[in-house]
Amino acid sequence: MSDFSIGVDLGGTNLRVAAVTSEGRLLEKVSIETKVSLGPEPAIDKMCGAIQQLIAKYKNNNLCGVGLGLPGIVDIENGIMRKAANLPGWENYPARAEIERRLRTSGILQNHAQVVVENDARAAGFGEHWIGAGRGVRNMAMLTLGTGIGGCVILDGKIWYGMNGMAGEFGHVTVEPDGQPCGCGNRGCAERYASASAIMRMAREAIASGAGSLAQAASSDAEFGVKSIFQLAMQGDEHARKIFRTFGRYLGILLADLVNILNLEMFVIGGGVASAWESFAPTMMNELCARSIVFGATASNAASCAAASNAASPKKETVDSQVPANSLRQTVITRAVLGSDAGLYGAAHLAELANHKFAKDMK
Ligand SMILES: [Zn+2]
Repeated sequence: MSDFSIGVDLGGTNLRVAAVTSEGRLLEKVSIETKVSLGPEPAIDKMCGAIQQLIAKYKNNNLCGVGLGLPGIVDIENGIMRKAANLPGWENYPARAEIERRLRTSGILQNHAQVVVENDARAAGFGEHWIGAGRGVRNMAMLTLGTGIGGCVILDGKIWYGMNGMAGEFGHVTVEPDGQPCGCGNRGCAERYASASAIMRMAREAIASGAGSLAQAASSDAEFGVKSIFQLAMQGDEHARKIFRTFGRYLGILLADLVNILNLEMFVIGGGVASAWESFAPTMMNELCARSIVFGATASNAASCAAASNAASPKKETVDSQVPANSLRQTVITRAVLGSDAGLYGAAHLAELANHKFAKDMK
């Protein structure tokens, strides 16, 4: 009999539920097609149905709890989704209370099993810290590049929330003073330049100014998106490559600020767009090297910067993205390794830790 928890990742279009052991082993993962944007009730019903099935299936193990990652501003103390830019109808929804009510009434959640909610980018960062790229690292940050930029800061092994839970809004750091307007009210926010929506905006602008290859791809491919632009870039299409160079440049500007301010051991880059790493990492690293005194302060980082600036071809990745053996005391910039499952692992682990805390407090 081993301990396990349920992790839930609520995206804009789908819902995923996983059973994860306390050692970080995935027992099972299910995806549920549901129109999350239609409002919380039907999605929560389906979610609780899937949770019940998984718990029943692994009932010979000890259930620690259920952790839920939500896309928006989450009040973790009260278990409420406060603001959800992409999920109309979810604002001020008491997610934790509703899930607990359903699961406890059906008798599936017993004793000291806990339900916790968390912002999805923080859950992903916590997952990477637990069993992903940041395993064993005490202080790190993760940037989740998706529609926007999600952030997670981990200090001394714990998520740093700030005064009112809003720390880590990396996406709204200004990288261009008079730049693109952002939904937050500012201009020139990082997520207007280094996210999936930024890539699509740059592609539309390039098409409008005569980028024939992109226009052709957009009209012939019904699924035209970031992936198609990345493929074009990897085939050497100059318009597509330029988009990713710009993307990498702004991401590097953001990273340089974060490295200078926080001086953390590791910065993990995750989210869907991170899979286009080869196309943006060179300009990202060049910009980071040029702008961050803190990054260049260790010999190994200085050597990476020298290698990056001497690169003959911008196509070739010159900076080692893997954590080298002698990485002690240097700033490591690396790709996430858990992919879209990071949030599932992180949410499950948060539920497990809440359970341990509850058991300790009860003593
Ligand atoms: Zn903004």
